Amino acid sequence: MKFPAHVLTVLLLAPLLSFSAAAADQVRDYPLAKIAAHTYVIHGPLGYPSPENQGFMNNPGFVITKDSVVVIDPGASLQVGRMLLKQIRTVTKLPVTHVFNTHVHGDHWLGNQAIREAFPGVKLMGHPEMIKKIKEGEGQVWVNMMNDLTKGYTKGTRSVPPETATPDRSDIKIGGMTFRVHAPEKAHSHTDIMIEAVEESVVFAGDNVLNQTIARMVDGTFRGNIAACDRIAAIKAKHYVPGHGPTGDVSVVTNYRNYLATVFDDVKQQYELGKSDFEMKDGIVAKLEFFQGWDRFDIEVGKHISQAVLEIEAAM
Ligand SMILES: [Zn+2]
Repeated sequence: MKFPAHVLTVLLLAPLLSFSAAAADQVRDYPLAKIAAHTYVIHGPLGYPSPENQGFMNNPGFVITKDSVVVIDPGASLQVGRMLLKQIRTVTKLPVTHVFNTHVHGDHWLGNQAIREAFPGVKLMGHPEMIKKIKEGEGQVWVNMMNDLTKGYTKGTRSVPPETATPDRSDIKIGGMTFRVHAPEKAHSHTDIMIEAVEESVVFAGDNVLNQTIARMVDGTFRGNIAACDRIAAIKAKHYVPGHGPTGDVSVVTNYRNYLATVFDDVKQQYELGKSDFEMKDGIVAKLEFFQGWDRFDIEVGKHISQAVLEIEAAM
């Protein structure tokens, strides 16, 4: 079939035009959920970064204090950070003065760039190990990975890391509110902080807790992650914001803890019986019926069993 020249030109240029317009701008809007009196979350879609989700798949949150806005995890790219800022402006005119980054995985913090662009004086905060790892080059690894996985959608995104280290159990007072830092050791990533907005009774758990989806465990430990879940469940907060998936009550934490503990305890038991990881899989999957429909379950569960074996061997 032969197209007339002008139709051909349109056909050839259309993908280019839509691509360049999208890449320079910001990700499409997702609904803003008010989860407590002054706390909001934009729940990103589940899945891995892709051209379809424009690299957006975490849960950026913010708390409006008396004087300013405190952001937790502004997302995977400059473009996600801009979408977050646009949504913040729909509910307040106050400036963003502080950002907490829950850990080094780029889907949670590369949006720092957009916040710094709009508010040059903003204080960016994270775990000291996160700051160190980014200095050693991990930030650029994530910038490149996001760009590749989204086929260039996140182009223009740069690594703008946190500069201020947040010690474990510190209380940071901002605009009359208390942000309590919980920095568990060797949990999801060895760079984790969880942020408790005390007066709001909200805990931002980072990827130590996921809901309806399963985390990659390559940078963490089962024991540490289970302990992190126990620590924040003991707070008995009203609301828990997972790193990915819907916000909920403490059952969001205990469910995820159950997943990790079921895998780890069962692997340990069967390892002691001399079984290898591929022999363990069917029995363990059968015990995880509650989680079988969760996003990434089929991809991650086998890897988790192998990682649990390695962790058990390393501790011997
Ligand atoms: Zn993560």
